[in-house]
Amino acid sequence: MQNADGKGDKMINIGVLGLQGAVVEHMEKLQQINGVSPIKIKTKQEIESVHALIIPGGESTAIGKLMEDFNLMYIIADRIKKGMPVWGTCAGMILMAKKISNYHRTFLNVMDIKVKRNAYGSQLDSFRTTLRIPEVSDSEIPLVFIRAPYVEEVWNDVKILARVDDKIVACRQAHMLATSFHPELTDDMSFHKYFVEQMVIPVLNL
Ligand code: GLN
Repeated sequence: MQNADGKGDKMINIGVLGLQGAVVEHMEKLQQINGVSPIKIKTKQEIESVHALIIPGGESTAIGKLMEDFNLMYIIADRIKKGMPVWGTCAGMILMAKKISNYHRTFLNVMDIKVKRNAYGSQLDSFRTTLRIPEVSDSEIPLVFIRAPYVEEVWNDVKILARVDDKIVACRQAHMLATSFHPELTDDMSFHKYFVEQMVIPVLNL
């Protein structure tokens, strides 16, 4: 088996935090990328074994509580701080944020963003749109939002990748990527390929 860049024969192990939420959907996307081996993560040992991590959408409070119950909070935050590439979708974005404007605590506390949970209110609970995000793809990408957060503020070297109606919905800070929406619930591969090719492979020494 070749890597996604066609070199070498080692697999890239990408973990998907498997406590709650859209886990299977991310695994299926990763499966389609040559050279990538998706691994559902639930234990400390499994976290140690991956090159990168996706934190899926779901319910941030539930995933946060389970991370604490399974003693995963510290080890995941520590690996991220040491440079492990990570991508949080929706609840995953909330879990990565250093500030949450409408919640009393933070979780992994790793990314220089301030997010608002359930930011679109109950009237616009879920919606779809399409957008061209030049950093990620030349074509328009379908975006699915479900009780989504958006980013109210970024600081330091956070790069804003996409806005919808003036609200920040995708951003990157070095090896950390956060999206308000769910690329794993569409048939578009752009974000998964971007994560692997632009964020994971460049920091690996396979
Ligand atoms: N509203 C959820 C939360 O606060 C996130 C929703 C999602 O991940 N689809 O965690």
